[in-house]
Amino acid sequence: MKKYVGAHVSASGGVQNAPLNAKKIGAKAFALFTKNQRQWVAKPLSEKSIEAFKNNLKEAGIEPKHILPHDSYLINLGHPEEEKLKKSQEAFIDELKRCGQLGLDKLNFHPGSHLLKIPKRDKDYQSKLESAEKYCLDRIAESMNIAIEATADSNVKLVIENTAGQGSNLGYKFEHLAYLIERVEDKSRVGVCIDTCHTFTAGYDLRTKEAYDETMKLFDEIVGFEYLSGMHINDSKAKFASRVDRHHSLGEGEIGWDAFRFIMQDERMNDIPLILETIDETIWEQEIKALYSFCNKE
Ligand SMILES: [Zn+2]
Ligand SMILES: [Zn+2]
Repeated sequence: MKKYVGAHVSASGGVQNAPLNAKKIGAKAFALFTKNQRQWVAKPLSEKSIEAFKNNLKEAGIEPKHILPHDSYLINLGHPEEEKLKKSQEAFIDELKRCGQLGLDKLNFHPGSHLLKIPKRDKDYQSKLESAEKYCLDRIAESMNIAIEATADSNVKLVIENTAGQGSNLGYKFEHLAYLIERVEDKSRVGVCIDTCHTFTAGYDLRTKEAYDETMKLFDEIVGFEYLSGMHINDSKAKFASRVDRHHSLGEGEIGWDAFRFIMQDERMNDIPLILETIDETIWEQEIKALYSFCNKE
């Protein structure tokens, strides 16, 4: 078995609880927040909780490389205002350090948002949008380089998640991910995470084998599978190409089961964390079982 499936589990009560929560649902991988995702500052991780985390990982039989920590939703590495950008960069660097302390090698994040409101009726809408996006992407790339430099002794990868493109979020085109990677000086510190819900609502179809193959071919040509460091496995409440980010339980949404079968039978997704962020955690155990049942017998 070369697939490592899990879910974004709770770390409430301390990071050391996450591996145990993963074990309970039969996960071989997991995601977690290493701090409260809705607050800027957090207490440093204590030696005790770091040690307990590592021990519990062993007990759960999960390897650090199959863990995909997610950063705080407050962080915007492309923020247009200097002060808030700085705050985001500092919080991001702190999160990278926390991952390193826990012996983890990845940190998953959403690229960022330009936050500008350009009225659609503006006759220069398209060119204004493009320049706002480019400006924001350049800021994100710069933030990534700053964060990498500030954690030069670390091997934690900055894993860029593709987005649905809701509001002014960037990362909804594979080209955005490629643009960022191109500008990161140390390529050994960068990876990407494909979220199936975001991919689908951003306008890349996954519903049939032909559509799936075409989407993955595009991903490979534009970004490259060598950067794929994890996936988020979600169905979507929102329609194809709607640019709306609403996750759903597997098979319940607009994507349907087939896409998840294609993923589980695709060797390019071997040995990376495949993480459920579906909406009903009471059925995660069943969803994990269902996904494993698609694996080719080896
Ligand atoms: Zn995310
Ligand atoms: Zn996601």
